[in-house]
Amino acid sequence: MEALYYIPSAKGVKCTLCPHNCLITEGKAGICKVRRNVNGKLIAETWGYLSAVHLDPIEKKPLYHFFPGRQILSLGSVGCNMHCLCCQNWQISQVPVPEDGVSAFTEPSAIVRKSLSLSGNIGVAYTYNEPTVWYEYMLETARLVRQAGLKNVMVSNGYINAEPLQELLEYIDAFNIDLKGFTDKFYREYTGARLEPVLQTLKQIKKANRHLEITNLVIPGQNDDIVIFRKMVDWIATELGTDTVLHLSRYHPAFRSDEASTPAATLENFCRIAHEKLHFVYAGNIQLKAFQDTYCPVCGNLLVSRTGYDVTVQSLTNDGACKRCGRKVISC
Ligand code: SF4
Ligand code: SF4
Repeated sequence: MEALYYIPSAKGVKCTLCPHNCLITEGKAGICKVRRNVNGKLIAETWGYLSAVHLDPIEKKPLYHFFPGRQILSLGSVGCNMHCLCCQNWQISQVPVPEDGVSAFTEPSAIVRKSLSLSGNIGVAYTYNEPTVWYEYMLETARLVRQAGLKNVMVSNGYINAEPLQELLEYIDAFNIDLKGFTDKFYREYTGARLEPVLQTLKQIKKANRHLEITNLVIPGQNDDIVIFRKMVDWIATELGTDTVLHLSRYHPAFRSDEASTPAATLENFCRIAHEKLHFVYAGNIQLKAFQDTYCPVCGNLLVSRTGYDVTVQSLTNDGACKRCGRKVISC
């Protein structure tokens, strides 16, 4: 499939999908390994190749304030425009399309039919590896999913240029975006990308009034400086609002990282610090009772209780407000 968002030139093709803006010479692929210059055209090699298709709890994305307790058909492909040292999904994120990939070819219309056939399913999530690098397939599927009256969710590292994101914003209902740290140095050294474009993505999603939750993986010795963490929380509260949902996740060693797992006490401390400025802070990859349920920030009513993926809606109106005081909290 010919890619969207590229500029041909005498030196090759320039992909303008993400802030790497790779200049790709004949026969080569970009940093993500899956967008290749073939005879002067940029080809999205992942189109239709899916490495995983699962019906997941929406909480697994994680999204805690978007149709809690429901399920979503979740798709993954291969490739990524970051190279995080601790990537949990490196077997699919750091590889090109397998040679037998065509056998897994799945038309967007087939995904929609499957979505509609699954009872309790709210729509389709583009997730597992970085969906930006399979942009064309996601966009086409998302259009059809929207037409079918279902929801679209994108789980992303947020490394995408403004113009393709704007086109996508028309169809994606909810985002979980990784904010992996709050210094450019960390982004460059740990992910191979830059911080500022991710901040721009978050602001653009907020401006478009789409449902937005953020995940930050707390990695010991890498991005756990409390002063910098406080700056990140301040930025979220100021630029995106104090209702922005923040998931703080426990890191475990994977891929090229060997730091020990995040101590539970560190994660709990970070949750408390974030909760000083933000109404909704949750701990991920760990059970921390104080940071797993949703409470109304106005009257303190318990709205949603969670034990792992066991979710109980306790006290919400049909449109996601607190039953006691009417404060809107959840998108549904
Ligand atoms: S999407 Fe891939 S090829 Fe395009 S600019 Fe980003 S890393 Fe490069
Ligand atoms: S952005 Fe996500 S998928 Fe890509 S390398 Fe980082 S952790 Fe892995």
